Amino acid sequence: MVKILIKLSEELVAKPTTAEIILEHKVPINIITAHVTSKGGDYLVDIPDESLETVVTAFRKKGAMVTLPKLIEIDKDKCFNCGACVSICPVEAITVAEDKSVNFDQEKCVGSTCSACVEACPARAIKSVKQNNHELENNTH
Ligand code: SF4
Ligand code: SF4
Repeated sequence: MVKILIKLSEELVAKPTTAEIILEHKVPINIITAHVTSKGGDYLVDIPDESLETVVTAFRKKGAMVTLPKLIEIDKDKCFNCGACVSICPVEAITVAEDKSVNFDQEKCVGSTCSACVEACPARAIKSVKQNNHELENNTH
């Protein structure tokens, strides 16, 4: 799966934009987070890797902005298990194992839409990384 961040304008957020794309292209789009106001909306969604181009093109054709957030990687050699990243993570993507080491669940992480742990780590053990080497052309809208 790959995570993409979709920004819908005031006009697009008032329409069933995501539902139309799911129906038209028969792709599963799993909404992870949504911040929606009457002025527009930001959606972080999960889609299958093989549907990335189809989904990005479909949203962009409708006038949406689409970007690819980075996820994070923890360098276990630098980490000294202080726990600062565990307490700051808003989605419990980082947890403490029985042996007191930290476990990271990439599926839960909302990546560069958050990045709180990257800033919080005193050992600079956490860095942002591209998702499965995916890249997107810049949005033309
Ligand atoms: S980037 Fe945010 S969501 Fe992801 S592990 Fe770090 S604190 Fe949690
Ligand atoms: S904040 Fe850094 S050093 Fe502390 S547990 Fe997390 S990754 Fe390890």
